[in-house]
Order: sequence, then structure tokens, then C-alpha cells
Amino acid sequence: MEEIFILASNNEHKAIELRKKLQKYGIKLLTQKEAGFNIEVDETGETFKENAMLKAEAIYNLSNKPTIADDSGLEVDALDGQPGVHSHRFAETDDERINKLLHMLKDVPDEKRTARFKTTICYIDKLGEKHFFDGVCEGKIGYEKKGTNGFGFDPIFICNGKTFAERTTEEKNEISHRGKATAKFLEYIEKMGNHVEL
Ligand code: IMP
Repeated sequence: MEEIFILASNNEHKAIELRKKLQKYGIKLLTQKEAGFNIEVDETGETFKENAMLKAEAIYNLSNKPTIADDSGLEVDALDGQPGVHSHRFAETDDERINKLLHMLKDVPDEKRTARFKTTICYIDKLGEKHFFDGVCEGKIGYEKKGTNGFGFDPIFICNGKTFAERTTEEKNEISHRGKATAKFLEYIEKMGNHVEL
């Protein structure tokens, strides 16, 4: 029988990618909205782990079904790790967030523009046990936008010589924070075998 997992997010990009991967384990992924839970969880935590857990717990408590949530952000060394957990609230739109960050780094030389994206996934299984999976991608902040793919800070985050926005989704997923955390989560699902064989 098909198992149902809920993604504690309404981000279609995240849902499409994960849905495809979980299908091969006989798991059907529903976004929280598709599952009928129209709530917005306040991200009041001080770490990615806390925020991922707050989102997963809120939906698990309503659905009683295996639930996945993630929280991510960009840590810039020259800004003592900011915007970090506040990445989304850093400004109103992606463009404003990028312009604000470039402005704050306008006098910062190349070797000090190091940064990293981080993700933590919280997975609450059918027994209510919590499991966490982390992913980190090291890089640096460029001086101008390059590339048109992706979202958020992708056009100014340089990793292995190219921005994330200059990569295809597949290329980005292979090296990205979220891609790495997701791979660990899928490895766990595979190892636990708490899915039907197809
Ligand atoms: P979320 O927790 O995954 O929704 O990410 C929070 C914020 O961090 C986003 O709104 C983006 O500004 C930034 N961010 C997280 N992941 C990425 C990424 O892969 N590329 C660009 N920006 C990201």
C-alpha cells in the first residue's frame, strides 16, 4: 500500500523534486496545503534545526503522518554569519535581498567574501520520532548577478567557479546544501525500508 508523507511547506519547487525521488519508494508526497493544512508556522527558532523542527512538528501534530520540513539560509563570514536564519526576512523580494547583500559587501575584498548555504531537514516518522539531516555548500559572494536559473541568492553565490544561477537544477542539486541534506534523508529512508517494494 502506498504510504503518504507530508511536506511541511507549500514551495512547489521543493515538492516537485522530492515527490519524484520518494515515488520510487512507493511514497506519495503531499504538500501541507494538498493535505488540507493551511497554516503558516512562525519561524521563531534561532537555528535552522529549530525552525525545521517547528514546521515539521506543527504539521505532524495535525496530520499524524510522516512529515518532512526543511529550513535553509546563507551565512556570510564578513557579516558574522548573517543573514543566516533570517535569510528570507532579510528584505522583501529576491532582488532586494541580493542588492542589500551586495551593498553591505561593497568594500569587502575577494578573499573575505566567503559564505555558505546550510539546510537542515527534520523528518518525523510514523512513530513520532524526529530525525535530522544537514547539508552545507561552501562558496563565496560575487560582485554582480550572474545567471538566471534558481531563486533567492543563487545569482550571486559562487561555488566551483560558477554561480548557482548559472547551473541547471540537476547540476545545482548535486552540490547544493539542500541536495546534500536530501540525499542523506533518502539514504535513511532506503536503509529503514519503511516503504513498499515496487
Ligand atoms: P528556505 O528555508 O529554504 O525557504 O530558505 C530561506 C531563504 O534562504 C530563501 O528565501 C532564500 O533567500 C535563501 N535560500 C535558501 N536556499 C537557497 C538556495 O538554494 N538558493 C538561493 N537562496 C536560498
